[in-house]
Amino acid sequence: MQKFDDTFTDERMSEMRRKEEDSLILSLAQQYGYEYVDLRGVTINPKAIRLVSEKDAHAGNLVVFETTRKRLSIAIRNPNNPNTKTVLESLKEQGYQPTIYMTSTTSLEHGWERYKDQKHGVAVKHGVLDINTDNIAQQVKKFKTPEDVSEHILDIRTINSARRISETLETVFAGAIALGASDIHIEPESADIRLRYRLDGVLYDIVDLELELYKRIISRLKLLSSMILNVKSEAQDGRFTFNLTDKSVEVRSSVIPGAAGESMVMRLLDPSVASFSMENLGLNSILHGVLTKELKRPNGLIVTTGPTGSGKTTALYAFLQEVHEEGIKIITIENPVEYKIDNIVQTQVSDDYTFESGLRAILRQDPDVIMVGEIRDREVAETAIHAAQTGHLVFSTLHTNSAVGAFPRLIDLGVDYRMIGSSVNIILGQRLVRVLCEHCKQSHPVNQNEHDAITQVLATHPKPPTVPDPIIIYEAEGCEHCNQSGFKGRQGVYEAVLVDTAVEEAVIRDPREHIILEAAKPQGIPTMAEDGIEKVLNGTTSLTELQRVVDLTSGRHTLKTEGTVDDTFSSHVV
Ligand SMILES: [Zn+2]
Repeated sequence: MQKFDDTFTDERMSEMRRKEEDSLILSLAQQYGYEYVDLRGVTINPKAIRLVSEKDAHAGNLVVFETTRKRLSIAIRNPNNPNTKTVLESLKEQGYQPTIYMTSTTSLEHGWERYKDQKHGVAVKHGVLDINTDNIAQQVKKFKTPEDVSEHILDIRTINSARRISETLETVFAGAIALGASDIHIEPESADIRLRYRLDGVLYDIVDLELELYKRIISRLKLLSSMILNVKSEAQDGRFTFNLTDKSVEVRSSVIPGAAGESMVMRLLDPSVASFSMENLGLNSILHGVLTKELKRPNGLIVTTGPTGSGKTTALYAFLQEVHEEGIKIITIENPVEYKIDNIVQTQVSDDYTFESGLRAILRQDPDVIMVGEIRDREVAETAIHAAQTGHLVFSTLHTNSAVGAFPRLIDLGVDYRMIGSSVNIILGQRLVRVLCEHCKQSHPVNQNEHDAITQVLATHPKPPTVPDPIIIYEAEGCEHCNQSGFKGRQGVYEAVLVDTAVEEAVIRDPREHIILEAAKPQGIPTMAEDGIEKVLNGTTSLTELQRVVDLTSGRHTLKTEGTVDDTFSSHVV
């Protein structure tokens, strides 16, 4: 017999057994003179279930499901079971008056499931409520620099231990929010345990934690995140939220095992930093024009590429805002939903709602515009391409180093290269650079090296900006407005490849990156280096900062002679 039939039969058999037991208990209840209850059909009072421990409930084969003052409603399987009698006696000794109901094993099992919620509930209670959000809100106003945070954490070393954990955590979160950190890192190393913030994309050391404090903080954070406490050798993900007076901040946490202990990263999703518009992206005028036109098209795939933390999702949110208007239905599938956008249906992947199954479900909802958080396998790639070909505008992201790298990447995922030209509209590549602080940036004429680096990049720029002689650029200095870092906020540097006839032909003929780049050259869209140099010249960022994120020597010239498709894949950032 086929396996399918076996499973089917097994399921039918156990279903029949369940029904049989239910009707047996129902008739036994009548014989014994008890009420019958099916716990699957009643609301179980959390206060009631807590009156007996999970262990005793299992041992006594019972569930307390309702309580009003000293009266209890208790579901039991067998009134003659001595263990049941023991638990009932003990409740009577405590002054309770039980009313007995008979129920089936399946029904009891359903009731015992509620203990899991209780555990979760207790964990959240111990965690969240222990962190005093009023204290966080108070401190947020106080902290101006990373040093303020380090000093406060060192100051509270002396207070008694129980209070110290909470106060340290409050300070850590308050500091992160006050300074606008995107992530909090706790990294145990052989000698010490580092606590760091990521501010405008760069990690800053805040303080070293002692081992004992670290252990307790990690436990607390795992509880808060609903992770399993005693699992220390596996990666775990979780999330929690804390509410401040004016906003709620969601924290997405992840823990991984390491040689010196678990290290934890918490990403703060602060809704107040979100503001999505094409204008805020910092697109150069050429690319802004191209993208505005592409976003008006009714169908096709628009992809943003770049490593983690390069602003891909922010760009997509801005595109969603741009296309959003009455009469257009927009649905997203994300992992997770990072920011809530008004009037857009946003869905989030889970165990049984994957990018693939979710995308199929979304297509049945008749949307005009779809955003798929990420294309990372063949099924999602093919479904997205199919959707783009059947009258939907589709936005998504790919993990590749460059815009042009998206072509070999899609083919590598299994997409038919002949489909790319007819479905993909444009591919955007991006990185984030830190924006110089307006209050303290310092101008200076370039030296010879800087002059050469800038003019070399500008030589290939399709519409080079006019530069003064001597060229003036800006450097980071540091003041009270920018946490002494010299920078405030971040902005994208971009490149893009439009899929026009020339590019489509190149993809079919020979999809190596330098061939496609050559085909795209007449489009006249600045490269990332060219775009970046413009942002150095207009004082948005410094040359040093640009060089930190973009390799200025890999311009149009060098890319032409650069390696093969395989070389590109080995350099993918995932
Ligand atoms: Zn400053």
